[in-house]
This record gives sequence, structure tokens and C-alpha cells, in this order.
Amino acid sequence: MSKLESFEPGLAKKLSEEREKDWRKALRRELTVQQRLAIPRHRMPEQPVSQRIKNFQEVNLGYTLELARAEAQRCLDCGQPGCVAGCPVAIDIPTFIKHIEAGEPERALEKIRETNGLPAICGRVCPQEVQCEKNCNLIKAGKEPVAIGHLERFAADFIGQLSEKVTVSTKECSAGKKVAVVGSGPAGLTAAADLARLGYSVTVYEALHLPGGVLAYGIPEFRLPRAILNSEISFIKSLGVEIRTNFIVGRTATLEDLKEDGFRAFFLGTGAGLPAFMGVPGENLLGVFSANEYLTRVNLMKSFKFPEYDTPVPAARKVAVIGGGNVAMDAVRTALRLGAKEAVIYYRRSRAEMPARAEEVKHAEEEGVIFNYLTVPVRFLGDSQGRLRGLLLQRLTLGPPDSSGRPRPVPVPGSEYEVEADLAVVAIGQSPNPLLIRQIAGLKLGRWGNVEVDWESMGTSLSGIFAGGDAVRGGATVILAMGDGRKSARSIDNFLRKC
Ligand SMILES: Cc1cc2nc3c(=O)[nH]c(=O)nc-3n(C[C@H](O)[C@H](O)[C@H](O)COP(=O)(O)OP(=O)(O)OC[C@H]3O[C@@H](n4cnc5c(N)ncnc54)[C@H](O)[C@@H]3O)c2cc1C
Repeated sequence: MSKLESFEPGLAKKLSEEREKDWRKALRRELTVQQRLAIPRHRMPEQPVSQRIKNFQEVNLGYTLELARAEAQRCLDCGQPGCVAGCPVAIDIPTFIKHIEAGEPERALEKIRETNGLPAICGRVCPQEVQCEKNCNLIKAGKEPVAIGHLERFAADFIGQLSEKVTVSTKECSAGKKVAVVGSGPAGLTAAADLARLGYSVTVYEALHLPGGVLAYGIPEFRLPRAILNSEISFIKSLGVEIRTNFIVGRTATLEDLKEDGFRAFFLGTGAGLPAFMGVPGENLLGVFSANEYLTRVNLMKSFKFPEYDTPVPAARKVAVIGGGNVAMDAVRTALRLGAKEAVIYYRRSRAEMPARAEEVKHAEEEGVIFNYLTVPVRFLGDSQGRLRGLLLQRLTLGPPDSSGRPRPVPVPGSEYEVEADLAVVAIGQSPNPLLIRQIAGLKLGRWGNVEVDWESMGTSLSGIFAGGDAVRGGATVILAMGDGRKSARSIDNFLRKC
């Protein structure tokens, strides 16, 4: 007996009988629209706050089959699903949700995988509230949107537990032509997977000792467990993709060297690993970190296990994190888990403008993070040993919109005040990693050091070189990086068919 049959013996059988006719119609008859509208959104089970702030295990525990199916029943399977339009990779969301309602998570996952190669990751880290869920038609009926992200994660995790047998269609062999992918973040992994499916011989080159890009070095385990990332990467390897770590393209070998080795096309997914700093006095004091460095030490170098692992991280009592995005939330929640007595976010706008995912902000608030809005450091203060002892802060007010369309923060004269801090983490943004892209002769870069592309094809100014993800967009999102990787794979296929 399958897991589903043990859950509800009748439905799966009944639907499979109706499948040849129209299983979706049959499913619609199971509940009326009114009954579906009356079902409240199902909360994600979580680790209790008192427990989770002492460990790095995942906060969200995932839906059970029962919860997932009940949540799937809320989806009205509308004629014009706004959710699909809101998804950057256009997952057929109603179909996968209806498969879950019918108790067919395998089919749900197959449907998702048609357009999304990393569902267990996207289900966890995509900002659904500003994408698919924002367009859910339930909102128009005054209800909370269907928990699409939680359901995507459920399908990926549930099948992960059952087997690894999801099939992918492989197109005819593309004569073993070699393609090099630089960077193993979501952009590179997606491009690599799609190219492998198309029959190319794909090698991914990664500078760090582990693949995954930000998914490995930036996002902490309490949001994205390594086991999940590793299983997605194993799936991509199972398609025939080779991943070479500790290999810096531009240092270990140049693009020219790789061309001589027979690579016919390149995808640059080198990310935005260059942190921005504030440029205020005292930023070079001991105890002031970029979020990139702080999170890399903890996530990738396992500094929380020092001295078992080589890389230390300061044990701080009062931690100040500057910024309001996902990176800032990850840094401040990491500091709490490392034992900080006080962990404070300083953000220059108000809560309404904070770019972090709503769930991360909620979790941070529950965990005791203090949020100080409309505040910016104007100086980091040091002691006689050159160590951070505090911050000089200034209050701000919101003025007319700036070029980003958000209200411009304007300093309030005479509002400066001091606070104590023994660790400060600057998380105000990052720009494209310059290491490789600045040394490729003729590669056109934009104003912010980003690779310029033709958005239709993701082709760069150089023939045979394509790019996507944060290297092109600056710090953006996992799903946009994946979308770029996918588009580039199609363009590389077109390019290689011609030559
Ligand atoms: C802490 C943090 C939290 C985030 N949280 C979220 C979130 O919750 N949701 C969301 O959607 N987005 C989030 N983001 C943004 C998201 O992770 C990025 O937009 C996404 O990872 C970009 O993917 P990418 O493949 O373009 O680059 P990356 O993930 O940055 O990967 C680039 C890879 O290229 C490698 N590389 C660079 N140069 C070379 C070279 N010369 N040779 C070989 N390898 C090289 C790098 O080592 C890196 O591994 C977060 C970002 C950070 C930093």
C-alpha cells in the first residue's frame, strides 16, 4: 500500500479511473468553491523559538501529506491563474497543486520539474509573497493566498523521501560538444542541468571547495539544510554534469585555456560576491565584517565548530547588523544562534520598505531580534586596541521617492546617538564578482560592473559567451538566476547548432 492509499484509499483510485476522462473536473466536484474558500491557510509547522535559537537546524519543519492535501484543497484551479504569471519560471502551479490534492506528489513534482530544476530550494527561499502568492485569486476574495511555496517544498521533500526516480526527458545527443559553466550557484546549476538534458557535455567550474554558490556559503542551514542542497546537486550530477571545485576560472585556467581544451561555449554565472561597504569612518576596525565574510565563515567554513574547524568567528555579546534584506536577516539570526545577548537590525527606511522575505522578518522578530528603523550608522567607534566598541547612529526620516521608487531616507539634523556593539555586520548589498569578468577582453560591463547581456538571449558582447544571475543583475533572487540559466541554455543550444 502506498503512502497515499494509507492516507485516503478511495480518492486516488477514483481519480485514476476518472483520469482518462477529466481528472481535474472530478477533483473540482469533491468540494464546492464555497467549501474551498472556507478553509483557512495552513500554517507551516516550525521549531519552537526557545529551541531553535540554540541550533542551526531548519526552522520550518514542512507540511505532512495531510496538511499539504488540505492546503491544496484551497486552490480554486481558476481559469486565469495569476500565480503562474507571477512565477519567474512560469511553473504550472494549479496543475501541481491539484496533483497534491489528488494525493499524487510524484506527479506534482514531475510537473514542477518541467520548469524548475531546484524545487526543494525554491520552495524554501523564493519570495513567494511578491511573486506567485501575490497574484493568487484568493486574495481578491479577501482570503490569504494558497501557500504555494510550502506546497512546492512538500512535493520536492516528499518524493525525495520516497525515491530518486523522477524521470527527465533527454533530447538527442548534441554530438558531445563541450560547454563550460563558470560558477555553481543557481544560475550555473540550472544552465548546466538544461544543457546536459540537451545532450551537451557540461563541466561546471567553482572557485570554492563546495558547489552551490550563495545557497552553500550565504544562506544558513536553519533556512536551507545542506542535505537538501546536496540532494538537488546530486540530481544535477545524475544528468551527467561534472562539477570541478577549487577551480577559479581566470586563475586556475583562463577562458582561452578552456577553449583550447575544446569548450565551444561558456556560461558565466559568477554571482555578486563583492560586498558593498558604507564608506564611513571606523569601518576597518576589528569586529566590523561584511555579511559575506561573516556568513561564509559560519556556513561554509563551519566556524561555529572552531577549533574542530580552522576558521574562527568572534563570539559577540552585542551585535549590530546594518541592512534590511535577506542577507541582513540571515546575519542577525546567525549571530543570535552563536550566542549574542542582543542582536539589532539598523535599517535606513521603515518596515514597509524592507526587502527581506516576509517570513524571514517574522522569524527574526519571533526570535527576539530588535529592529531599529530609520537609522543609519555614521561612524563605527573603536577602543584603543582598534576594536569595535560601538556605533554612532543617526536618525532619518522618509522623503520623496528616489530612483528605486522607494522613499528617500533623509537625515534628521542633531539626531546622532551612540550605542554599544562588539560586532557589526554590514549587509547593504553586493555587486558582481569582478575576478573573471573584468579580465575578459572585449566583455562589455555595465555601470555597476555587471555583465551586459541581450535580455532575449542572455548573450554577452562576445560570441559564444552567455551570462546570467547576479553577475548580470547584481544581488537579485534565486529564481531569477535560475530563469537566466534556463534561457542561456536554450541560447547556447541555438548557438552550438549553428557552428
Ligand atoms: C545571505 C544571502 C541570502 C539570500 N537569501 C535569498 C532568499 O531567501 N531568496 C532568494 O531568492 N534569494 C536570496 N539571496 C540571493 C540569491 O542567493 C542570489 O540571487 C543567487 O544565489 C544568485 O545566483 P548566481 O548563480 O547568479 O550566483 P551565486 O549564487 O553567487 O553563485 C556564483 C558562484 O560563482 C562562483 N565564482 C565566481 N567567480 C568564479 C570564477 N572566476 N571561477 C569559478 N567560480 C566562480 C562563486 O564562488 C559562487 O559559488 C540571498 C543572497 C545572500 C547572499
